[in-house]
Amino acid sequence: MDQSNHIASLPAEPRSFGFFVDGSWVDAGSREIFERKSPAHDVAVTRTTRCTTDDLNAAVIVARKAFADRRWSGLSGARRSAVLLKAANGIRERLDELALLETLETGKPISQSRGEVEGGADIYEYAAGAARALHGDSFNNLGDRMMGLVTREPIGVVGLITPWNFPFFILSERVPFILAAGCTIIAKPSEVTSATTLIMAEILSEAGLPDGVFNVVTGSGSEIGQALTEHADIDMVSFTGSTAVGQRTLLASAGNFKKLGLELGGKNPQVVFADANLDDAADGVVFGMCFNAGQCCVGGTRLVVEKSVARDFETLIVEKLARVRIGDPLDPDTQMGAVITGTQNDTILKYIAIGKKEGARLVCGGDRFAGKTGQFIQPTVFADVDRDMTISREEIFGPVLTITTFDTFDEAIEIANDTIYGLAASIWTTSLDKATDAFRRIQAGRVWVNTTITGGPELPIGGFKQSGTGRETGIYGVEEYTEVKSVHIALGRRDHWVA
Ligand code: NDP
Repeated sequence: MDQSNHIASLPAEPRSFGFFVDGSWVDAGSREIFERKSPAHDVAVTRTTRCTTDDLNAAVIVARKAFADRRWSGLSGARRSAVLLKAANGIRERLDELALLETLETGKPISQSRGEVEGGADIYEYAAGAARALHGDSFNNLGDRMMGLVTREPIGVVGLITPWNFPFFILSERVPFILAAGCTIIAKPSEVTSATTLIMAEILSEAGLPDGVFNVVTGSGSEIGQALTEHADIDMVSFTGSTAVGQRTLLASAGNFKKLGLELGGKNPQVVFADANLDDAADGVVFGMCFNAGQCCVGGTRLVVEKSVARDFETLIVEKLARVRIGDPLDPDTQMGAVITGTQNDTILKYIAIGKKEGARLVCGGDRFAGKTGQFIQPTVFADVDRDMTISREEIFGPVLTITTFDTFDEAIEIANDTIYGLAASIWTTSLDKATDAFRRIQAGRVWVNTTITGGPELPIGGFKQSGTGRETGIYGVEEYTEVKSVHIALGRRDHWVA
C-alpha cells in the first residue's frame, strides 16, 4: 500500500534484528542488545545486536574468502550490473518499510525518508551502468614489440563505516559503487541507525549477490568501528562521520597502510550577492539550514551576505523560517523533524549558548521546543557574527545559521574560504561572471550556483582540506575502489641480455 499520504503509526513492539554475514541472518543469541528509541517519540522502535570483535573477525574471514575465490570480482560487469538493477527494484518494493524504519530511527520527516530511499534505488541503477563502463587503458604507442595495458582491479575487502544522519542514502552512495568495482564489503552502520543497512543486506542477497560479498556487523563505533579500521586483513575503509573520528581512523589504518576514503565535516558557506534573486536565495538558505534538522554535512549554515542587502535578507529568512512545518516526522506534511540523540541535542544547545555569550545577535529561535516529546530544536539565527567566533568556525550539526556580512567580492571569497573545512558551498547571484569567478575560487568539493543540496549520482562528492579525502559516486566513485595495474607485454623474441 502506498503510505505516502498517511500518518504511519508507531510500532507496537520494537523490531528485532540479528546481523548479516555470508548471505544469512545471524541471531543475536546471548550478545548484548541495543534498543533504539525514536528521537521524536521516545518510544523503543528497534533492537539491534552488539556484535563482538570475534563476530567482526569472522565476517572479515568470510569477506576475504568471497573476494579471493572471485565469486563476485570474477563476474562480468554485465552480471554485476544485473544484480544491482535487481537490488534497485528490491529497494522500491520495500520503500514503505525502509522509509518508516529510517524515520523511526533518525527522527527525519517521512516524506524525506521516502525521497532518500527512492534516491538510493536510483543510485543503484546508475552504478549498475558504471559496472559495465569501468575500464582501464591501453598503450599502443610503445613500438611494434611492446604493448602496454592499464587495468583496474577491485581493491579487495572494504570496511564501510556510515553515520546516522543519512543511514540509507549515504550507504547507497557507496555500496553499489564498491560492488560495481568487484569488491566485498563489511558494513558497520551507526549503532543508533542500523535497521535499513541490515535490510539492504537481505535485499542484495535476494537480488542474487553471492553470499559473503556484503556483510553487516552492528555495534558501537568505538569498539566495532575502531576494530574494523585497525584490521590487518581489510584493504580499504570508507568512513563518513566527524573530522575528529576521521583523524582517529587515519591513525588506526596505518598498521597495514589500508587505503582510506574519508567524508568528514563541513562549515559550508552560502554566499549571497546583492544582485541575487533574494527570495530564491532566502528559500535556499532556509532549506540548507533546516534540512535534516541541520544534521547534514553539506548543510549551508554559514551565511555570507553582501552588507547592502543583509538586513532585508535577514527579515526574509525569519519570515520563511516561521512557515517551516516542524513536528511529528511521521506526518507526511512535516518538513523538519527531531534531532538524532540527546547528546547531539545538548551539543547544539551548547553552541547556541556560546553564540549568545560571544556576543552574536540572536535573531530568532535559540532554544528547544517546549512541551514536545522527543528532541526538537528551534531553527536559530545569529547575526553580527564575527568570523572568529566559535559558532562561525565549528561544525554545529543543528539548525543554527550564522550571518556574516561582506563589502567586496574578494572579501566574500576570503570569508567563504576561512575555514578548516572544504566540503560544500553555495553561491547566489544573477551574474554569470560573478558566479564563475566565485566557484573557481571557492575551496570546496561541491559548489552549487543558485541552488543548494541537490544533485544526482553522476557527479562525484567529497571534500577539500579537512573535509576528507577521496571521492564517492560518479565514475570516480567506482574508480576509488580499484587498484591500477600496469602491464607490459613483450611481443616476439627477446633480445638476450646474457651474451
Ligand atoms: P562519529 O564520527 O562519532 O560517528 C560516525 C560513524 O563513525 C558512526 O558509524 C560511528 O559509530 C563511527 N565511529 C565512532 N567512533 C569510531 C571509531 N573510533 N572508529 C571507527 N568508527 C567510529 O560522529 P558522532 O555520531 O559522534 O557525531 C559527532 C559529530 O560528527 C556531529 O556533531 C557532526 O559534527 C559530525 N558528523 C558528521 C557527519 C557527516 O556526514 N560528515 C555524520 C555524522 C556526524 P557509532 O555511531 O555506532 O558510534
